[in-house]
Amino acid sequence: MQWRRVEAARELLAGERGAIVRDWGGQLPIVLAYPHSYAVGMSSLAMHALYGWLNARPGIVCERAFASLDGRPSPGEPVFTLESQRPMGDAAVIAFSVSFEMDYFHVLDMLRRSGVPVAAAERGPGDPLVLMGGPAVSANPLPLALVADAIVLGEVEPILDDLLRRLEGVWDAEREATLSSLAQVPGVYVPTLHQGQAVERQWLSDLDAYPVGSTIVAPRSAFGDMQLIEISRGCVWGCKFCLAGCWYRPWRERSVEVILRQAREGMVYWNKVGLVASAVSDYTRIDELTAALRALGLKVSVSSLRVRPLSEKLVQALAESGARTFTLAPEAGSDRLRQKIQKGVRHEDVIRAVALAGRYRFESLKLYFMWGLPGERDEDIEAIADLVNAVLELFPRQVVVNLTPFVPKAHTPFQREAMASTEVLEDRLDRLRRRLRRTRTQLRAEAVEEARIQALLARGDHHVSQALLTLQKPSPRLLEPALRRMGIDPAVYRGARGADERLPWEFIRL
Ligand code: SF4
Repeated sequence: MQWRRVEAARELLAGERGAIVRDWGGQLPIVLAYPHSYAVGMSSLAMHALYGWLNARPGIVCERAFASLDGRPSPGEPVFTLESQRPMGDAAVIAFSVSFEMDYFHVLDMLRRSGVPVAAAERGPGDPLVLMGGPAVSANPLPLALVADAIVLGEVEPILDDLLRRLEGVWDAEREATLSSLAQVPGVYVPTLHQGQAVERQWLSDLDAYPVGSTIVAPRSAFGDMQLIEISRGCVWGCKFCLAGCWYRPWRERSVEVILRQAREGMVYWNKVGLVASAVSDYTRIDELTAALRALGLKVSVSSLRVRPLSEKLVQALAESGARTFTLAPEAGSDRLRQKIQKGVRHEDVIRAVALAGRYRFESLKLYFMWGLPGERDEDIEAIADLVNAVLELFPRQVVVNLTPFVPKAHTPFQREAMASTEVLEDRLDRLRRRLRRTRTQLRAEAVEEARIQALLARGDHHVSQALLTLQKPSPRLLEPALRRMGIDPAVYRGARGADERLPWEFIRL
């Protein structure tokens, strides 16, 4: 089976442009690990950017590894790097980019399959140093605190040079000395050393100093047909449930000039640009940017749009670029609940946006809602159905409704709110299904059970980290029983937190 994975890696590599294959001799080998499939990992701009920055640094060779290359689970099979097909565990440093809580299980699995002790305390001389970063794990690093040697809290760019300089001698240095050195870097949390001391989240003040975009042409990734370019970071809106909006504060923009330079450089490989931001339509010079990209002959795609503001010129550019699907996220059905979550969008804004989408003949309209939000009542679910019915009148083609259960996240204004019970969530989902049954809507809801586990990880503490270490198989289903065996009721992590209760992630200074 091992040779099949090696073959699969070589085949993917052969289809790419821009991958860097170098000899490890005399260099510091860092494996950039993504705890999900190749297709998802290569859609992450963090992977692209770090790969470029690390390989550009003299003395470092950086290769990539993924939980799976083809999206299928590979139980027990060793994890190889893509570039040289060496075991991931041969690296001096494994740097995990962790975007989602449910990927924590893949982190454990990848380490185990590589023969690297999962518990940081059990790693010794000769074992790689395990670093982590990414929004989920840095907003609340506690659930992985017993697994990671160090976790970067916030954005890595301001500390990248300092961090890499301290890693240079990692082969020869004592592990403890390296960890003590890393703990001196602002924003680097070393769980064995910090013990509750404050750590300051890092953020980059000038986005232009670090252009972020696709560095590898990866046709088999989720957005392999386009060059992804980050145009802004953070969000002006601050919806109360949203980790991306709260964690990446303050809102910053990259200049049109830098984005166009990136786009021009990418034209050798791509004829389409995917603009990446929390809310692309908030970019202050969006009309100017899309016009300039179109003038270069490039097609334009976007990662996300807000219902309001929504530029007609941007919508037109998307339609002319061949986009088939138009996506909007009203999040809640009623104006009352949208106001409570601070969405800043009213019923008439949704209707206006849908009418605009209808005029440009997109084949499909996707609507994103959350359910189980704090303060939600049965009538808010009825309001989702009413809104969808109004949308169906205006949009004559396919309408897809995506539903996600609300999960309280650290550092958001809703961080102390309770998650709705399974009964309430299932009951309200049934209610909505019944209301939309005879319509042409396709309703897709995220599994409630999975969201409940996500909630344990999003607001977990060192007990959750201990429970993760005890899992025989890194399976989400086993986490709650593991906590119960430790005498801990998992429901505690989903319940409301009192206003005076100290939260495990409060040591992070924003
Ligand atoms: S507009 Fe979108 S990205 Fe911004 S805070 Fe709200 S949900 Fe988050």
